[in-house]
Amino acid sequence: MANGKVLTLWDEEGINKKDTSVLRKKSSDVPVPQDKAARAAIQTLIDSFLERDDASGLAAPQIGITKRIIVFRTKGFGEKEKVKPDDFEVLVNPRITQARGEKVTMAEGCLSCPEIQVEISRFPEIKVRAFNAKGEKISKRYLDYVARIIQHEIDHLDGKLIVDYEGNLYYPKNKEKYFEKIFEG
Ligand SMILES: [Zn+2]
Repeated sequence: MANGKVLTLWDEEGINKKDTSVLRKKSSDVPVPQDKAARAAIQTLIDSFLERDDASGLAAPQIGITKRIIVFRTKGFGEKEKVKPDDFEVLVNPRITQARGEKVTMAEGCLSCPEIQVEISRFPEIKVRAFNAKGEKISKRYLDYVARIIQHEIDHLDGKLIVDYEGNLYYPKNKEKYFEKIFEG
């Protein structure tokens, strides 16, 4: 099924059509109670996440599993080291039930949109209903950067990516021609 490779909208050759079609799909709900396939998908996502040192979060469709599962750091951001066992959380079938506060604008990157950043406005406080990795129902409030990551990862479950936002877009100056071509299509 998945080997931990993160799908990307583009690569050195240009637009990555196969990956794009997966990343653009709307992911389906995980069955409740979780079946064997769901538990395997959750574990694969966790393993793929823990292998990396460059991810704040990861959504199942990014590794080719179009199921509503996300994993994210809750501590140790930007430390460029692998996530510690207690520093991450998994949400299954997450649903934002409340969003509060004045939206905050910040440049975001995404492993599926390599080398670019886009300024995106997101709520600083959200309440989420979901299931945890064990299949237990949870309802939890998240703040600031963690709230931002969760909103970003839930976007993935709906096939939405940072390039869909209208904010300023940044890419390396020496790759101007490459990205102009990517974004004209
Ligand atoms: Zn992303």
